[in-house]
Amino acid sequence: MRDGSTPSVRKPPGVFFSGGDNGAVEPADSIGRLGFSRWYERRLIEGHAWFVSAFSSMILVAVCMEELTFKGGAARLLAYVSLVLAATALCIYGIFRYQRIITEAERVGERATCPGCGVYARFKLFSANSVRCRKCSHEWRLID
Ligand SMILES: [Zn+2]
Repeated sequence: MRDGSTPSVRKPPGVFFSGGDNGAVEPADSIGRLGFSRWYERRLIEGHAWFVSAFSSMILVAVCMEELTFKGGAARLLAYVSLVLAATALCIYGIFRYQRIITEAERVGERATCPGCGVYARFKLFSANSVRCRKCSHEWRLID
């Protein structure tokens, strides 16, 4: 850098809907740190928490839309409109996050069975995307 500062890390475009996950490192880093079963469980919990948030936001939008009237002044109307817009944004974001997290968990989960001996989720990561079975030492690609 010309000014002597450290280079800034720029987020790739579309990071809002990807949730900031670094595609090159995740989910291998998390699976290596937590183990597959715990990682899978956490992804399902996180995904469904986003689903519940999105569903709650949808109910909030419906309730606020019912309360939207021109009675009570502009401040009240503005507050309800702001709440509806915020809840709509949260609902859309929550649905995108839910879909992305569950899709990723299922994609990795489908490959968690050892092709050599058929045992499920008993492997160790030895590279960013490949694993080795703890039972029969068969190696396969877990992550694309
Ligand atoms: Zn095996």
